[in-house]
Amino acid sequence: MTDFAATRDFFDLPDGVIYLDGNSLGPLPQNAVSRANRTMTDEWGGMLIGGWNKARWMEMPIRLGDRIGRLVGAQPGSVVIGDTLSIKVYQALAAALELRPERKVVLSDSGNFPTDLYMADGLLRSLGKGHELRIVAPEEVSGAIDETIAAVMLTHVDYGTGRMHDMAGITRMTHEAGAISIWDLAHSAGAVPVDLAGCGVDMATGCTYKYLNGGPGAPAFIYVNPDLQDIVRPALSGWLGHDAPFAFDLDYRPAPGIARMRVGTPPVIQMAVLDAALDVWDEIDMDDIRARSIELSELFISRVESGTTQVSLASPRDPAERGSQVSFRFREGYAAMQALIARGVIGDFRAPDRMRFGFCPLYNTEDEVRRAAATLCEIVERGEWDRPEFLKREAVT
Ligand SMILES: *Cc1c(COP(=O)(O)O)cnc(C)c1O
Repeated sequence: MTDFAATRDFFDLPDGVIYLDGNSLGPLPQNAVSRANRTMTDEWGGMLIGGWNKARWMEMPIRLGDRIGRLVGAQPGSVVIGDTLSIKVYQALAAALELRPERKVVLSDSGNFPTDLYMADGLLRSLGKGHELRIVAPEEVSGAIDETIAAVMLTHVDYGTGRMHDMAGITRMTHEAGAISIWDLAHSAGAVPVDLAGCGVDMATGCTYKYLNGGPGAPAFIYVNPDLQDIVRPALSGWLGHDAPFAFDLDYRPAPGIARMRVGTPPVIQMAVLDAALDVWDEIDMDDIRARSIELSELFISRVESGTTQVSLASPRDPAERGSQVSFRFREGYAAMQALIARGVIGDFRAPDRMRFGFCPLYNTEDEVRRAAATLCEIVERGEWDRPEFLKREAVT
């Protein structure tokens, strides 16, 4: 059983803060500071260009990929990190469409994160082959999978509501229709158990700065099923995905395996921080995380609903259909969130009216959840949100 008191000590959380936004940006792991320092001073400072070999910077994308792969049920050698999640979504979809050249429809849903849809739209436009991006409501996805679909591209856990798709079932239907399955795990990796290999998923992507605590701008990851790794043709054919980058051939020849999904020079300092952040996960069983996350989320919902009727649950009520976050609708949700933050309870807001709360068992406690719920109820019941400083919108909500 995971010792959650010990995992909380892994993080450096400011005093007086209840942090319920680890689904957006995980907090600072204590060991990340010394690790970043060492990478900068001893490696970059001391080894200069030699760091690529001596400090094994060049292997980090694959080594860290395997550390993340363990958390999402991926086979060793099938995850690599690099770039941003938007880029990885583009790469996965481009590769999927090349695998199904005769089909012209990409299926996604209106619960997807906008950047995934924007990237798909841009890719389809520049392909210029008459592809269609078909967006249906989340509950209509399974009924919309047919033999015209090239790829089913979905985000497993909805960023706004926490609603979770049935990965096994939808992947099975996708394959029965002869299409390629792509899952975005941005709100799943480190939040809920995922079994990519068991579900037979073709490709997956995700980010490392949310539940994996890799720090702002930490690199993303991409998974390609081992059966496809030597077939997929990388659209972003960068030199570090080449079979022999240092041969400096004029012709592109993709590397064997997952390495072909690398693009360019990886961010070494940010990878070092992520490497440190992943230490806490080595001993963790995702089933323990899931059980605890459900306890915390259920406690939050019941406390909020018994304290006020002014907010309404925007997340599925059945915990089996939710990831590790809970959203409540409130007509002045933005202002109420600012009032909460002013009282040390940090969540966030997603338009038009959703207040989002992420639950991270690694550091959130039951006591914090009770206090956060009580504070939210006070703010909406007493109208504490109705002050000019809370109504003024910042660029990042
Ligand atoms: C957070 C998130 C992103 C963010 O993409 P970046 O390229 O890292 O900015 C993309 N997709 C989903 C589903 C997300 O939740």
